[in-house]
Amino acid sequence: MKRPPWSRRSFLQTGALPLVALAPAGAGEPASSNRVLEPARELPFAGCWDVLVAGGGPAGVAAAVSAARAGARTCLIEQHGCLGGIWTVGLLCWILDHANKPGLMAEILRELERRGARAVASDGRPTNGYDPEVMKLLLDELCLSSGVEIHLHSRVCAARCVGRDLTHAVIESRSGREAFAARVFVDATGDGDLAAQAGCSFDLGHPDTGRTQPMSLLALLTGLRPADIRAFYRDDHREAGAAPKDRLRAEMERGGHSPSYSQPTLFRLRDDLFAMMANHEYGVVGTNARDVTAATLRARREVHALVDGLRSLGGPWANVRIVATAAQIGIREGRRIRGRYVVTADDLRDGRRHADAVCRVTFGIDVHATDPGRGKGIESAPFRARAYDIPLRALIAADRDNLLTAGRCISGDFIAHSSYRVTGNAVRLGEAAGILAALAALHRSAPAEVPWDEIVRRLPAPPGSVS
Ligand SMILES: Cc1cc2nc3c(=O)[nH]c(=O)nc-3n(C[C@H](O)[C@H](O)[C@H](O)COP(=O)(O)OP(=O)(O)OC[C@H]3O[C@@H](n4cnc5c(N)ncnc54)[C@H](O)[C@@H]3O)c2cc1C
Repeated sequence: MKRPPWSRRSFLQTGALPLVALAPAGAGEPASSNRVLEPARELPFAGCWDVLVAGGGPAGVAAAVSAARAGARTCLIEQHGCLGGIWTVGLLCWILDHANKPGLMAEILRELERRGARAVASDGRPTNGYDPEVMKLLLDELCLSSGVEIHLHSRVCAARCVGRDLTHAVIESRSGREAFAARVFVDATGDGDLAAQAGCSFDLGHPDTGRTQPMSLLALLTGLRPADIRAFYRDDHREAGAAPKDRLRAEMERGGHSPSYSQPTLFRLRDDLFAMMANHEYGVVGTNARDVTAATLRARREVHALVDGLRSLGGPWANVRIVATAAQIGIREGRRIRGRYVVTADDLRDGRRHADAVCRVTFGIDVHATDPGRGKGIESAPFRARAYDIPLRALIAADRDNLLTAGRCISGDFIAHSSYRVTGNAVRLGEAAGILAALAALHRSAPAEVPWDEIVRRLPAPPGSVS
C-alpha cells in the first residue's frame, strides 16, 4: 500500500527528523530507559553583550534599564510576548512595598499616573493598582528609550559555563536555538531558570515539608459598578483588613462555589475594570511543567465557575464578565538561588541592617496556605517582621562569578522570601543588580570585586531608609 506523504515512516525516511530523536537512547541501554539522546549541534552565535538579563518581569526590566542607563550594552530575554511578568502576563495589578522605593519604582508609578493608568480610590488618592495594558507599553518604552535590546518570545533553555564563569545563555525562539554571550548575566526569571541551567545550587519550598506556596490565576473583570460593590473590595484608604474579602467569599458561596482561596480579593483598577484573585492551587511545583499545566486548567475552570456563580445572583453582579484570565498562572515560589549571603527569618525578626544594603523591605511575612487541610487563607506568621535590609551579596550567585539574581529568585530562606518577593522590592533589587552588572562588565571585573559603596552611592536613596 502506498503510504501517504505525511506518514511517520516516510517522514523518518526523508531524514527530516533524526531517528535518534524518537527512539529511547543509547544502544545497549536497558529497554526501560525513558531517556532520549539529543545530538550535539553547533549553535548560531547571536552576539556578545556587556549584560544579559534573563526574564522581563518587574526585576528584569529594572535590571536591564539600569544596566543600559549605566552605559552597558544590554539585552533582555523574555519568554512571553510582552514585558512585565506578573504585572502584565500575570494580571496582578497591585504593587506592594513601593512607598520607600525611589528611582525606577517611583518613575514607573509617576509615569502610570501621568498616562491616567494608575488606579485611584474614591477619595481621589492613588492606590497600588494600575491598568496592565498601559503598563505593557510603558515598560517597552522604558527599555527602548534606555537602549535595551529586547528579545520577546525567547526562552532561556540552557547555559554554557567555563570554570566558574557563565559564558553563554542558550535561547530558544522561532529562530531556533542561539548562543548569547555576555560579560555579566542577571537571572530575573523568577524561578531561577538561568542559574539552574548554569549549575547553581538552590532551595525550593519549605525546608521541612518541601511544600511551596499555592499558585493563583488572576482575572480581569468588567460589568461591575464600584458604588454597587463597595462592600466587596478594598481600594480606598477607608477600609482595611479582611472584611471585604470575607463578604466576597460569602457572596461566592451564595452563588454556589466556595473559592479555594478563603480570602478572595477584588482590586479596583478603573471604574469599569477590576482584577480578581480568588483561587489557590495547592501541592503544585512551579518548576514542573505538568504541574503548572494542570494547575492552570483547574484554576481557569474555577475562576469561570466563581464568576458565573456571582452573575447568577443578579443585583450588582448581574453584568459581571471576565475580560481575560492571565496567560501565566501566578507562581509565588520558585528556586531560591544560593548567593553569597542568605536572607533569613532572623533578618526579619531582628530588622537587620547591612553596610551593603540595596533594598529595605517593609512588607511582612506572607505565606499563603501550603496545606489546605489546615486552612485556605494566609498562614499565621511565626513573628512580626521588622523592616530589614537586603545586602548586595544576596544577589551574587554563590557558584558562578559573573551571575547575579534579582527579584523573587534571590538568595533567601522560605520565610524571608515570603516577605521580600513583592514587586516594589523586585524592582529595587533589579535596579541594584543592573548597576552592579554594568559596572562589573565595563570594568572587566567580577561583580563581587566591585566596591559595594559604589553601587549604594549610585542607587537613589530614600532619606533615612537605606544607609
Ligand atoms: C498570585 C500572586 C499574587 C501576588 N500578589 C502580589 C501583590 O499583590 N503585589 C506585589 O507586589 N506582589 C505580589 N506577588 C509577588 C510578586 O508578584 C512576585 O514575587 C514578583 O513577580 C517578582 O518579580 P520578578 O520579576 O522576580 O518575577 P516575575 O514577575 O515572575 O517575572 C519573571 C519573568 O521572567 C520570565 N521568564 C521566566 N522564565 C524564563 C525563561 N526560562 N526564559 C525567558 N524568560 C523567562 C517570565 O515570563 C517573567 O516575565 C504575587 C505573586 C503571585 C504569584
